[in-house]
Amino acid sequence: MAETLTAQPAPLGFDPQELMVKYTQERAKRLRQDGMDQYQELKGAFNRLDQDTFASTSSRREPLNKDVTVLIIGGGYGGLLAAANLAKKGISDVMIVEKGAGFGGTWYWNQYPGARCDVESYVYLPLLEELGYTPKEKYVAGPDILQHVELIAKKYQLKGKALFQTIVRSTTWNDAENHWNIKTDHGDDLRARYVVAATGILHKPKLPGVPGIETFKGESFHTTHWNYDVTGRSLEKLANMRVANIGTGATSIQTIPILGEKAKQLYVFQRTPASVNVRNNRPTPPDFESSCTPGWQQDRMKNFNAIITGLPFEKDLVDDGWTDNKAMSFLSAEEKRDPATVGQVMMVSDMAKMERIRARVDELVEDKETAEKLKPWYSSMCKRPCFHDEYLQMFNRPNVTLVDTDGKGVERITENGIIANGVEYPVDLIVYASGFYISGGQISQTSGVEIVGRSGVPLAQQWDEVGAKTLFGVHIPDFPNFFTVNTTQAGVAANFMWTLATAGRQIGYVVSECEKRGIRVAEADEAAAARWTEAIVASSKPMFQFFTTCTPSYYNGEQKMTKHMEKLGTYGAGANAWGQLLEDWRAKDDLEGLKIIKKTDTETDAEA
Ligand code: NDP
Repeated sequence: MAETLTAQPAPLGFDPQELMVKYTQERAKRLRQDGMDQYQELKGAFNRLDQDTFASTSSRREPLNKDVTVLIIGGGYGGLLAAANLAKKGISDVMIVEKGAGFGGTWYWNQYPGARCDVESYVYLPLLEELGYTPKEKYVAGPDILQHVELIAKKYQLKGKALFQTIVRSTTWNDAENHWNIKTDHGDDLRARYVVAATGILHKPKLPGVPGIETFKGESFHTTHWNYDVTGRSLEKLANMRVANIGTGATSIQTIPILGEKAKQLYVFQRTPASVNVRNNRPTPPDFESSCTPGWQQDRMKNFNAIITGLPFEKDLVDDGWTDNKAMSFLSAEEKRDPATVGQVMMVSDMAKMERIRARVDELVEDKETAEKLKPWYSSMCKRPCFHDEYLQMFNRPNVTLVDTDGKGVERITENGIIANGVEYPVDLIVYASGFYISGGQISQTSGVEIVGRSGVPLAQQWDEVGAKTLFGVHIPDFPNFFTVNTTQAGVAANFMWTLATAGRQIGYVVSECEKRGIRVAEADEAAAARWTEAIVASSKPMFQFFTTCTPSYYNGEQKMTKHMEKLGTYGAGANAWGQLLEDWRAKDDLEGLKIIKKTDTETDAEA
């Protein structure tokens, strides 16, 4: 990569060649053979995920035996948007099965202090126009997001349709009866004509694969299940505690400023510094609502997607740290077709952005040695970009210590604390902010739901053997009347809500058309799905190539390509193009690519 970059003239203020050498050196420190296997699941007493401390009700109840038209697995935004779109189409016989005691999914579980959406709330929170709701800040806090979730549930009357505190164990297609049989951890026996797997991507936490975690005598938990009994609701109990935070990802950037203020002593264990850009959160201007014209939210979402995927745009409506690198947008179509131009422009403009982010560390962190350790040396999109206006200043506090491990990570947990760089740090509480097994492709594996289609071969096995195969990232051959809401083979941008909302519209349309047209069973046509998968593999190649040059992260499987990873890519033409493609497909109204297997109960198989 370094050889392909020509030296740039002085006004840049940096030498791209030199920077690339530095990026390569830092990346090399972090490369390891074990990829995602370096992590471990939460086990034994440590695993508090089955004890929902946010629940105020008991999960005990009698098993249910019930038929529904649509069963949605997951009550996060993906499930709610599917349900809302079904309701808009008049499909109300819906059941949402949700592990938590309330809606919200990721936002229900991740109630850690400081949780806040890091994509602008006017594009992140869906259905604002339908709900007549204006978020009170540009980036709203977790409790406001849960309130917004409740508004969706209320508007579309979803509360009574939810089976909370229930985990779906399996869903199996019954070809004789043309429905899905769903089993849960409560012994429920449920049957549904359609199943939507809205199982989320950030729900299976992981821990560093270091020895000794179970030997620690103090308190410890993962950020996805914050233990307020230990910290106190306002973290008042931390005043007498030495706290360790392992990780410096998007979650830590939000928790550390609060932990630093509340804890007697905070040790931040860092393996790779985050890129932390300006947040500039502010209240929503009083005239925001009156300045919006109908359709504004969809336009704003598209504008955001366009800018961050390098498409032309008229005005930057969001105007924040996500959208501040627009070099790609100004390239002509011809320049974009030349990979050499695109590569060069992207790389150099991103380096300029990262130089600003590194300069910000020097501006805000007083101790020069600490500042140096907090500087990220990789392209901004190699890892999740972070934004915060108090994070870096925390390291000026006398009670906050950065324990940088120069890419190696913590070594071991002892009875008393943590060993890093050969030194033991005794602590009273360890907060694991070590992230999640991202479930992009493996909806079965990480959700824990066994999904068995018409052939009887589980989805996990099929995708393990030949890789993912979908139509539009929503429909799957051999899995009739089944929909996924995920990143795999779908159109994805930084605003995941776009993906969820787009998939929701597709689901609402297909289910209602099947019902209207008397179609009993429909599934993705094998050939159409194969074509879509080929297109995904081809169009996401540049993205995978880019990620191989990156520092390890979950974005690139920790730099270890997993089996058939190329088929887990996203739609290369971008999130807007994917949304448009599905909109055009629905407008054609011919269900092309879906195989209609049964029109009514009495007809024999009749492929359309
Ligand atoms: P991440 O996976 O981003 O971060 C995990 C952190 O743990 C990394 O800093 C990682 O270091 C560190 N780590 C792992 N193993 C070790 C080890 N052995 N020693 C020391 N450190 C270690 O998880 P997060 O929970 O922070 O974020 C996950 C995702 O959640 C984000 O990418 C984002 O998509 C989402 N999120 C969204 C928010 C929103 O507002 N919308 C807010 C918060 C999170 P290394 O970098 O070296 O791997």
